[in-house]
Parts: sequence; structure tokens; C-alpha cells
Amino acid sequence: MTKIAFIGLGIMGGPMAAHLVAAEQDVSGFDLGADALGRFVAAGGHAAESVADAVDGAEVVITMLPNHPHVEAVVLGPGGVLEVAKPGTLLIDMSTIRPETSLELAKLGGEKGIRVLDAPVSGGEAGAKQAALSIMVGGEADDFTAARPLFEIVGKTIVHVGPHGAGQVVKAANQLVVGGIYGLVGEAIVLMEASGVDAGTGLDVLAGGLAANRILDLKRESMVARRFEPGFRIDLHHKDMGIALAAARQADVSLPLTGLVAQLIAAGRAMGYGSLDHSALLKVTEALSGRSPEKD
Ligand code: NAD
Repeated sequence: MTKIAFIGLGIMGGPMAAHLVAAEQDVSGFDLGADALGRFVAAGGHAAESVADAVDGAEVVITMLPNHPHVEAVVLGPGGVLEVAKPGTLLIDMSTIRPETSLELAKLGGEKGIRVLDAPVSGGEAGAKQAALSIMVGGEADDFTAARPLFEIVGKTIVHVGPHGAGQVVKAANQLVVGGIYGLVGEAIVLMEASGVDAGTGLDVLAGGLAANRILDLKRESMVARRFEPGFRIDLHHKDMGIALAAARQADVSLPLTGLVAQLIAAGRAMGYGSLDHSALLKVTEALSGRSPEKD
């Protein structure tokens, strides 16, 4: 049994922490939101009163927070992980954030004897609930080996992809592919509906051919029905496209499709869809064609 502090019990962190509790790990959880904390307690977890309270005495600290300012506040801030954790503690940041923050955490953690991994995930809310996440891990090989039994409780595809920050680069690559696929599935729906073809039937055929993909499997029904409750919010995907474009600039490469998808997601946010699931990219494509389901 490992003594774990789990900070950030939202859409992803909530079910992940619950799996660790179910696997009989000793998990102390903290979230700023009372609802998230309540769900964790209902799943059998122990609610901490603060980050410091959760981290006190922990062998492993897991963070699953929205973006780098939240991670910096929790890890580097007063009463934060680096202030409270004992030397030798393993800090696993599973949030999706910019690689440079992961590098900074590793450096500052190292100065205090705290081992750090960046371990962002893919698989969405369904993957978190089913303990079937893909986990891309950056950091030292020994630390990856130490963390692996915990990763296996929440994930299925678990890969050490390189040094500190590499996990975040792979996640950025994941997000540009996912964003692009959502954009294209939306375009396929708009084209079929505008042509008088039943989009659900059409997508069923696509899902059995070369265009098959997980997004078609998981989301085609809800997209055709215009159900956009998150899931993964447009606001968070907007953040991730920013990370991908910054990483491209850093690596001196041109990613034109990523740039276009980033602008479509930015448009969705500007249209007020930031809190909807990223499949609501369909609404942006509809707007560009002067269409909405109500008009059909
Ligand atoms: P979320 O907003 O549902 O959860 C984040 C939680 O962090 C919230 O409950 C919030 O109250 C809490 N929080 C924020 N600041 C805090 C602080 N200072 N102290 C304690 N708690 C704090 O977000 P999510 O969808 O669970 O995403 C979390 C991370 O995982 C993000 O980086 C996201 O990009 C990534 N991610 C999400 C998905 C998805 O499908 N939702 C999939 C893969 C990766």
C-alpha cells in the first residue's frame, strides 16, 4: 500500500483517484471544489483540508489540474508540494501543461530531493472511468519504474517516452491529432446533413472503413444528436492547442493543420462554447456554413 496525495479531483482526477482507493492504496485527496471532494469521499477516499494536509507524509503526490498556473500554485506555492513533501517523495504531474513547466518542476523538485515525472494522459473521461488511460511519461527511468504499479491501476497503455517534458510533447502531439479528427468529423456531418443524407447512417459506414477511429466510435452518436456536455471542455483543448503551437515554435517546425484547428477551437471559445465538450467544434463548422440543426 502506498501513501498517496491526490490533488485535483475533477472530471479526470475524480475517477482516477477512486480507482487508486479501490486498489486499496492509502489516498488522501484535495480539491478546491466541494462537489469534487464529496464525490471522492463517497468513493471511499479520505478528504484532506488543504494541499499541505494531503501531502504531509505522502510517498507519492499525484496532481491532475487544469493548467500550468494551477500546477505551479499547488507545487511551488506557499504550503505547496515542494514545501511540505519529504525528500524522496515522487511527484507525478498528470495534468496537460506546457513542457517548460514540467522541466522547471523537475529542476526545482530535484533541488529538494523530490523526484518528478510528467505523465499526461489520453483517453478522456471514459478512459479515466474505465481505468483504460494511455499514459505518456517523461522523466528518469528509475522513477518511471517506481511509478508503474500505480499507472497500471488507472491506465492500459503506459510508456516512458523520454526525459522530463517529453510526456508533455507527446501529449501535445496527441491533442493536435484529436482536434483535427474532431474538426473533420464535424465537417463530415455538416456535409452529409446539408446534402440530405442521414449523418448517423453515413458515419456508421465511415466507422467500418479506412476513416475508422476512436472518436467516431465514442462520439458520433452524441455529435449527431448535438449533445455536448463535457467530457473535455473546449477551453482545455484551446489551452492544449496553445501548448502544441508553442512546442512547434520551440522545435522550429511548421504545423499548418494544427494552426488551422487551433483557430477553429479559438472560434468555438469566442462563440461562447468554452464549457462545452470539444466535439462542439461541430457548431463552429455549422456556423461557418450558415447552418444550425434548428434550420435543417
Ligand atoms: P477539471 O476542471 O474537471 O478538474 C480539475 C480540478 O482541479 C477541478 O476539480 C478544480 O477544482 C481542481 N483545482 C484547480 N485548482 C486547484 C488547486 N489549486 N487546488 C486543488 N484543486 C484545484 O479538469 P479535467 O477535465 O479533469 O482535466 C484535468 C487535466 O487533465 C487537464 O490538464 C486536462 O487538459 C487533462 N485531460 C483532460 C481530459 C478530459 O477528457 N477531461 C483528458 C485528458 C487529459
